Amino acid sequence: MPAIDIEGVAMRFGDVDALKNVSLHVPEGAFVTLLGPSGCGKTTLLNIIAGFLAPSRGRVLFDRQDVTGIRPEARDTAMCFQSYALFPHLSVQDNIAFGPRQKRVPKTEVSARVGDLIRQMGLAPHAAKLPNALSGGQQQRVALARALAVAPGVVLFDEPLSNLDAKLRDQVRGEIRDLQRRVGFTAVYVTHDQAEALAMSDTVFLLNGGVIEQSGSPREIYFRPRTRFVADFIGAANLQDGAIAGGAMQTPFGPIPVDAADAARRTICWRPEVVRLSDVGALSGRVAHVAFQGGWLDLFVTAGDQTLRLQVPGTHDIPDGAEIRFDVARDAVVVLEDEPHA
Ligand code: ATP
Repeated sequence: MPAIDIEGVAMRFGDVDALKNVSLHVPEGAFVTLLGPSGCGKTTLLNIIAGFLAPSRGRVLFDRQDVTGIRPEARDTAMCFQSYALFPHLSVQDNIAFGPRQKRVPKTEVSARVGDLIRQMGLAPHAAKLPNALSGGQQQRVALARALAVAPGVVLFDEPLSNLDAKLRDQVRGEIRDLQRRVGFTAVYVTHDQAEALAMSDTVFLLNGGVIEQSGSPREIYFRPRTRFVADFIGAANLQDGAIAGGAMQTPFGPIPVDAADAARRTICWRPEVVRLSDVGALSGRVAHVAFQGGWLDLFVTAGDQTLRLQVPGTHDIPDGAEIRFDVARDAVVVLEDEPHA
């Protein structure tokens, strides 16, 4: 299981800078995601790690060995795509056996590996079927088993779950993570789905316009976003602009406590669920709209010209139009690094 290092990688297509000086480290056996909006460069970076693309500048290292000039087949990687790319004329077991046979792995070893994977992926009843006789989720499992059959040290995933419906996606997500821990490989997973990245990753690398905007554990990225882009891209956020004085930002709802020096104009960010309802809360507003979500309520609360989104347990019964008081804890409020919007 190699560790991966990307050192100063840039990629230019004509006059498009798809990646600009990207560096990152993936520890051996880690599960990391490359997350970001369409066009931010995540697939380009994955293809550079796989060796399908040569970077315009920079190096790729596996276990500190430079592999930048090494062709894809000679790298210790396997790829798992969204468009399963299964061979339609081969059975499930022959699809899975394809890679190791190509690599001239001895026959008994191939059938042992294929048998193991078929069992682990719950594909035993389907082993002799052709891919078009399988559901999307089953095809995705075959694609994953096929990638793992060559016993790669690194598995590269390119939005593998985007063709599955939401419920199945959650399930296969868990299976991939579980398998990664059991089998042991270093995983680099491309997605534009922030929920997927938060649920699966040891580390999230959030890309924006060909650079890494922020990296960190899912918790860090979610609760401690550094910029407006990160705060907006991940989850729901309350973003408020204003002056900071005496450890608080004055807002139409009241003073929001912040751990920051006085400043004429900054942007603060806090997540809807950090709020605490309290009859003696320092903040107040009017509930313009309530959306019952089962486990929780989304409250859209207004004061002056601002609207906040609050999330409270679904057991609360709050009507539209209610006046509420609430608190937000100082350590739940982040002051963003970038300038407030004009
Ligand atoms: P998506 O989620 O839409 O796949 P992405 O984050 O994976 O987006 P990339 O596919 O890496 O983004 O593309 C990054 C930028 O590079 C985009 O502006 C894209 O148009 C451009 N690009 C990618 N591949 C090529 C290519 N072969 N030729 C020209 N431009 C390219």
